[in-house]
Amino acid sequence: MDPSDLASPRPIPEELHSEYEERPFLTCTRCGESLREFEEGYQVAKVFKRGEVIFEYALCAPCHSGIVDEFSSESRRALEDFFTENMTSGLGAGVCGICNRGRADLSEPEYTLGAVCLGSDLLESLMICSECTERSNAFISKKTQGIYGDFINDNFPGVPADALPDPTRVPIL
Ligand SMILES: [Zn+2]
Ligand SMILES: [Zn+2]
Repeated sequence: MDPSDLASPRPIPEELHSEYEERPFLTCTRCGESLREFEEGYQVAKVFKRGEVIFEYALCAPCHSGIVDEFSSESRRALEDFFTENMTSGLGAGVCGICNRGRADLSEPEYTLGAVCLGSDLLESLMICSECTERSNAFISKKTQGIYGDFINDNFPGVPADALPDPTRVPIL
Protein backbone atom coordinates (compact mmCIF):
# COMPACT_ATOMS: atom_id res chain seq x y z
CA MET A 1 0.00 0.00 0.00
CA ASP A 2 1.23 3.46 -0.89
CA PRO A 3 1.55 5.41 2.37
CA SER A 4 0.37 8.57 0.62
CA ASP A 5 -3.04 6.90 0.18
CA LEU A 6 -3.55 6.82 3.90
CA ALA A 7 -5.84 9.28 5.54
CA SER A 8 -4.35 11.31 8.36
CA PRO A 9 -3.94 9.25 11.53
CA ARG A 10 -6.60 9.45 14.22
CA PRO A 11 -7.22 7.65 17.50
CA ILE A 12 -8.45 4.07 17.16
CA PRO A 13 -12.24 4.14 17.68
CA GLU A 14 -13.74 1.94 20.34
CA GLU A 15 -15.41 -0.40 17.86
CA LEU A 16 -11.92 -1.44 16.76
CA HIS A 17 -10.76 -2.12 20.29
CA SER A 18 -10.55 -5.64 21.65
CA GLU A 19 -14.01 -6.61 22.85
CA TYR A 20 -12.50 -9.36 24.94
CA GLU A 21 -9.89 -7.20 26.69
CA GLU A 22 -12.11 -4.09 26.75
CA ARG A 23 -9.24 -1.88 25.56
CA PRO A 24 -7.22 -1.32 22.41
CA PHE A 25 -5.35 -4.39 21.19
CA LEU A 26 -1.93 -4.46 22.81
CA THR A 27 -0.35 -7.69 21.62
CA CYS A 28 -0.26 -9.73 18.44
CA THR A 29 -2.74 -12.61 18.54
CA ARG A 30 -0.25 -14.92 16.83
CA CYS A 31 3.19 -14.13 18.32
CA GLY A 32 2.25 -12.19 21.45
CA GLU A 33 4.66 -9.30 20.77
CA SER A 34 3.68 -5.78 21.74
CA LEU A 35 1.94 -4.20 18.74
CA ARG A 36 3.16 -0.70 19.45
CA GLU A 37 6.73 -1.84 18.79
CA PHE A 38 6.09 -2.49 15.10
CA GLU A 39 7.05 0.43 12.91
CA GLU A 40 5.24 -1.20 9.98
CA GLY A 41 2.05 -1.14 12.00
CA TYR A 42 -0.48 -3.90 12.58
CA GLN A 43 -3.88 -5.06 11.48
CA VAL A 44 -7.05 -5.49 13.46
CA ALA A 45 -10.02 -7.58 12.34
CA LYS A 46 -13.38 -8.11 14.03
CA VAL A 47 -16.19 -10.26 12.74
CA PHE A 48 -19.73 -9.28 13.73
CA LYS A 49 -22.75 -11.55 13.53
CA ARG A 50 -26.15 -10.24 14.59
CA GLY A 51 -24.46 -7.28 16.21
CA GLU A 52 -22.14 -9.43 18.35
CA VAL A 53 -18.39 -9.81 17.96
CA ILE A 54 -17.86 -13.50 17.34
CA PHE A 55 -14.19 -13.31 16.50
CA GLU A 56 -11.40 -10.75 16.66
CA TYR A 57 -7.68 -10.54 16.28
CA ALA A 58 -4.73 -8.22 15.85
CA LEU A 59 -1.73 -9.25 13.77
CA CYS A 60 1.67 -7.58 13.66
CA ALA A 61 3.00 -6.92 10.15
CA PRO A 62 5.46 -9.88 10.13
CA CYS A 63 2.75 -12.34 11.26
CA HIS A 64 0.26 -10.99 8.74
CA SER A 65 2.67 -11.28 5.84
CA GLY A 66 3.74 -14.69 7.18
CA ILE A 67 0.17 -15.97 6.84
CA VAL A 68 -0.34 -14.38 3.43
CA ASP A 69 2.97 -15.84 2.21
CA GLU A 70 1.66 -19.31 2.98
CA PHE A 71 -1.30 -18.81 0.67
CA SER A 72 -0.85 -20.38 -2.73
CA SER A 73 0.26 -17.87 -5.33
CA GLU A 74 -2.91 -18.61 -7.37
CA SER A 75 -5.13 -17.76 -4.41
CA ARG A 76 -3.17 -14.66 -3.65
CA ARG A 77 -3.32 -13.45 -7.23
CA ALA A 78 -7.03 -14.26 -7.62
CA LEU A 79 -7.80 -12.40 -4.41
CA GLU A 80 -5.73 -9.40 -5.38
CA ASP A 81 -7.52 -9.26 -8.73
CA PHE A 82 -10.92 -9.59 -7.06
CA PHE A 83 -10.24 -6.75 -4.66
CA THR A 84 -8.56 -4.54 -7.24
CA GLU A 85 -11.61 -4.87 -9.47
CA ASN A 86 -14.30 -4.65 -6.83
CA MET A 87 -13.01 -2.78 -3.82
CA THR A 88 -13.40 0.94 -3.28
CA SER A 89 -10.87 2.08 -0.69
CA GLY A 90 -11.20 5.05 1.59
CA LEU A 91 -14.88 4.51 2.42
CA GLY A 92 -14.22 3.83 6.10
CA ALA A 93 -15.93 1.31 8.36
CA GLY A 94 -19.52 2.42 7.81
CA VAL A 95 -19.92 1.23 4.22
CA CYS A 96 -19.08 -2.13 2.61
CA GLY A 97 -16.00 -1.51 0.45
CA ILE A 98 -17.29 -3.87 -2.24
CA CYS A 99 -21.07 -3.42 -2.59
CA ASN A 100 -21.05 0.08 -1.02
CA ARG A 101 -24.06 -0.66 1.19
CA GLY A 102 -24.17 0.98 4.59
CA ARG A 103 -24.56 -1.19 7.67
CA ALA A 104 -28.26 -0.31 7.96
CA ASP A 105 -28.83 -1.51 4.38
CA LEU A 106 -27.47 -5.01 4.94
CA SER A 107 -30.04 -7.80 5.02
CA GLU A 108 -28.24 -9.24 8.09
CA PRO A 109 -26.02 -7.28 10.50
CA GLU A 110 -23.08 -9.49 9.59
CA TYR A 111 -19.81 -7.97 8.50
CA THR A 112 -16.09 -7.85 9.06
CA LEU A 113 -14.30 -4.72 10.20
CA GLY A 114 -10.66 -4.38 9.29
CA ALA A 115 -8.16 -1.71 10.20
CA VAL A 116 -4.55 -0.76 9.75
CA CYS A 117 -3.10 0.81 12.88
CA LEU A 118 0.24 2.27 13.85
CA GLY A 119 0.97 2.70 17.54
CA SER A 120 -2.23 4.08 19.02
CA ASP A 121 -3.37 5.61 15.71
CA LEU A 122 -5.83 4.35 13.14
CA LEU A 123 -4.51 4.76 9.60
CA GLU A 124 -7.33 3.16 7.66
CA SER A 125 -10.47 1.19 8.34
CA LEU A 126 -12.90 -0.71 6.17
CA MET A 127 -15.97 -2.90 6.30
CA ILE A 128 -16.90 -5.88 4.16
CA CYS A 129 -20.37 -7.37 4.48
CA SER A 130 -20.79 -11.13 4.87
CA GLU A 131 -22.31 -11.52 1.39
CA CYS A 132 -19.28 -9.90 -0.24
CA THR A 133 -16.98 -12.00 1.98
CA GLU A 134 -18.70 -15.10 0.62
CA ARG A 135 -18.22 -13.90 -2.94
CA SER A 136 -14.49 -13.46 -2.32
CA ASN A 137 -14.35 -16.95 -0.74
CA ALA A 138 -14.86 -18.46 -4.18
CA PHE A 139 -11.35 -17.31 -5.08
CA ILE A 140 -9.57 -19.20 -2.34
CA SER A 141 -8.17 -22.67 -2.90
CA LYS A 142 -8.85 -25.45 -0.40
CA LYS A 143 -5.19 -25.42 0.58
CA THR A 144 -5.29 -21.73 1.39
CA GLN A 145 -8.49 -22.21 3.37
CA GLY A 146 -6.62 -24.87 5.33
CA ILE A 147 -3.84 -22.43 6.23
CA TYR A 148 -6.41 -20.05 7.60
CA GLY A 149 -8.16 -22.88 9.43
CA ASP A 150 -4.86 -23.81 11.10
CA PHE A 151 -4.41 -20.24 12.28
CA ILE A 152 -7.91 -20.33 13.82
CA ASN A 153 -7.41 -23.74 15.41
CA ASP A 154 -4.03 -22.79 16.88
CA ASN A 155 -5.22 -19.52 18.33
CA PHE A 156 -8.91 -19.96 18.97
CA PRO A 157 -9.61 -23.51 20.08
CA GLY A 158 -13.29 -24.34 19.84
CA VAL A 159 -14.07 -21.85 17.10
CA PRO A 160 -15.21 -23.68 13.95
CA ALA A 161 -12.88 -22.26 11.32
CA ASP A 162 -15.08 -23.11 8.38
CA ALA A 163 -18.07 -21.32 9.89
CA LEU A 164 -16.38 -17.93 9.73
CA PRO A 165 -15.71 -15.38 7.09
CA ASP A 166 -11.99 -14.90 6.77
CA PRO A 167 -10.77 -11.52 7.95
CA THR A 168 -7.28 -12.19 6.61
CA ARG A 169 -8.85 -11.75 3.19
CA VAL A 170 -9.46 -8.15 4.02
CA PRO A 171 -7.31 -6.54 1.34
CA ILE A 172 -5.02 -4.48 3.51
CA LEU A 173 -1.88 -6.35 2.63
ZN1 LIG B 1 2.95 -11.20 15.50
ZN1 LIG C 1 -20.96 -5.92 0.59
